[in-house]
Amino acid sequence: MPLFPTALTRDAGLAALSAFLGGPGADYAAARNTDRGRGAQPTTSALSPYLRRRLLTEAEVVEAALHAFGDEGAEKFVSEVFWRTYFKGHLETHPDAWTGTRTGRDAALARLAEEPRLRRIHEQAIAGETGIDGFDSWVVQLTEEGWLHNHTRMWFASIWIFTLRLPWELGADLFMRHLIDGDPASNTLSWRWVAGLHTRGKNYVARRDNIRRYTAEGFDPDGLDEDAEPLDEAKPPREVPLPKADTPPAGDVALLLHLDDLHPESLDLGAARVSRIGGLLAHPEGASEKVRAADESAMRDGLARAEAHFGCPAGPVSEGWAGDLPVVTAWATVGPSAEALPGDCLRLRRDWDERAWPLSTRGYSRLRGGIPKILRG
Ligand SMILES: Cc1cc2nc3c(=O)[nH]c(=O)nc-3n(C[C@H](O)[C@H](O)[C@H](O)COP(=O)(O)OP(=O)(O)OC[C@H]3O[C@@H](n4cnc5c(N)ncnc54)[C@H](O)[C@@H]3O)c2cc1C
Repeated sequence: MPLFPTALTRDAGLAALSAFLGGPGADYAAARNTDRGRGAQPTTSALSPYLRRRLLTEAEVVEAALHAFGDEGAEKFVSEVFWRTYFKGHLETHPDAWTGTRTGRDAALARLAEEPRLRRIHEQAIAGETGIDGFDSWVVQLTEEGWLHNHTRMWFASIWIFTLRLPWELGADLFMRHLIDGDPASNTLSWRWVAGLHTRGKNYVARRDNIRRYTAEGFDPDGLDEDAEPLDEAKPPREVPLPKADTPPAGDVALLLHLDDLHPESLDLGAARVSRIGGLLAHPEGASEKVRAADESAMRDGLARAEAHFGCPAGPVSEGWAGDLPVVTAWATVGPSAEALPGDCLRLRRDWDERAWPLSTRGYSRLRGGIPKILRG
């Protein structure tokens, strides 16, 4: 059975959440590092495609886990959800990490055109023909299914960077085009983390023993570079102040939905009254058919729910869709949706992000320390 339904909807997300709470959630902390392989029930929640588009909000998923398992039982899962929040806050204050990845990808593509050896290794990697046990199956899973387990993503990125010696930006781009949960912040910063650029000087090295132990198939890759040094860069992304959010105006507004936030029912709109709704679809560059279909079904679902909730027409944005009304929208984090938003719309931030992002400018530990206070708030 496929891991995700054909249509990515909030109802499907709620069903997946309840299956997780009634199943693998109870054993999450102990089992989460194991990749059971394609076709098997995952050890983790597989909620990221829904969280990435906010068909489910981080707040409700965390609340449900705390309710089901208590503070201690849910601790690991809650901490993982906050990794997502952390990466988003970090990218907001280090947007060069996103733009730099694209520049790096373009430079790497130019190198492929000029360096036949690099081109050959890259072609073997994306065709799943490297001969590296595990890696070749994961490439096929990534392109066919749009999904990889977290531990596998770590091994994959590490082998790509340190054994195959391929430019990391090409790997990050491959993930963004194929992962159904492809997320500018989590993906870019995780690749940087594996490379040793996010926590500077500390890279993640994939080890044969670890892969054998944590894969149900018992993949046993020979010849990995297990002594690799971290990558370095001349100019790390500079830190910029967290951009300020807007406040909603009173009176009639047009609400713009985008792929970073498709739960308008829980957005705090103050005294604004929604009288038109438009949906803006901005797929990642080069997104696969699967990713585009997931985005489209999620947007359809968001628009249908918004129409029912606010009692006014909703549809894809078109010329003049908002009339003369002020346009309000949920905050779009650095990435394709933020780049496609009209310049004059009012951007509202959820409390969750407002409380967490100021703690996300450096390492994760500061945010982790703030989790109890954020949850009390
Ligand atoms: C190289 C690499 C690339 C990645 N690219 C993406 C990406 O494009 N989109 C994406 O959502 N995640 C990405 N991740 C993070 C992580 O792998 C996925 O969020 C996780 O595998 C999703 O599976 P799950 O929903 O079953 O997670 P669970 O383990 O059930 O965790 C619950 C939720 O917490 C969040 N989460 C869990 N682990 C992480 C993590 N390490 N970093 C950030 N958030 C996390 C996710 O929203 C997830 O749905 C990447 C990790 C690596 C190492």
